[in-house]
Amino acid sequence: MLEMPFHLPPAGACTRLGDGLWWFRLPLPYVLDHIDLYLLEGEGERVLVDTGHADDVSQRLLAQVLGERLDRILVTHFHPDHVGNAGHLAARYGSTLAMPRLEWAMARMLAFEPDEAWRAALAAYDRLLGVEAELGRRRLALGNVFARTVTPPPGSFQELRDGMVVRLAGLPFRVMLMGGHAPAHALFYQRERRLLIAGDQILPEISPLVGVWADEPEGDPLADYLAALERLAGLPEDVLVLPGHGRPFRGLRARVAAIRAHHQERLARTLELCRDWASVFEVALALFDRPLDETTVGFALAEALAHLNYLHRRGELVRESGADGAWHFRRR
Ligand SMILES: [Zn+2]
Repeated sequence: MLEMPFHLPPAGACTRLGDGLWWFRLPLPYVLDHIDLYLLEGEGERVLVDTGHADDVSQRLLAQVLGERLDRILVTHFHPDHVGNAGHLAARYGSTLAMPRLEWAMARMLAFEPDEAWRAALAAYDRLLGVEAELGRRRLALGNVFARTVTPPPGSFQELRDGMVVRLAGLPFRVMLMGGHAPAHALFYQRERRLLIAGDQILPEISPLVGVWADEPEGDPLADYLAALERLAGLPEDVLVLPGHGRPFRGLRARVAAIRAHHQERLARTLELCRDWASVFEVALALFDRPLDETTVGFALAEALAHLNYLHRRGELVRESGADGAWHFRRR
């Protein structure tokens, strides 16, 4: 069982988690309707970890919580709910931004990618995945969604690398970079106070999304993610995990075990669905047995392909291309 020792902060206010450490929540316009952010204050410095989705409501709440001062911004990974206000806050407060280079580069690239280039990659990906034509058209019509939901991060930043120690508001944190959910997701570990600022690498209530996207259809992020879980399980059991979505919790190893079991179960189900030749689209619809629209289907496809690629690379599935250009997978 997970221990969750803190109460949810009221909207626009913070919950104190310890000396110089604060937690607050911003709304998100998705099915996952909130993100949790952490503020550190000490030795004359104020540091924010992650920034929320770029919209008026979030920016108003950020101004309310931050007041007149923000010295540094750290972003765990490039997803829009985490990097969304980095550009806005850096401009407003003159704060510096620190991120893993790959995450910063992904955010910059996507924020400035023209609609046309975005659509071309998505069309090729949807063809490989066997997405039904009308749904594919609706997905393409959305255009570069990323660019519309972030304020582009500044063109100058500080790089976070695996293993380095950063002092945040006077406290030393070790940076850990992990793959799976994002290419080089940053976590911040404070050994003496047993704190882990974890972003989306591990979450208390939902399994972090592990998906294969249009930028790399042959990718195998699930292998990276499972390896990262091993690394997390090596941290002390009494660490307080500060997640990107959900309440701070203790019980890291139990959570690692539950998420690992979830992926094993999903891999078994994926194999089952490939008794006969199946496209990624067909597997996604069967794995996520609920209504999917042009937005939510993207997550289902990405997650289905992550499990299919994992099994394919390990020789448990064979893959062939059909006359329509779509991949079909079958159990060996
Ligand atoms: Zn997130």
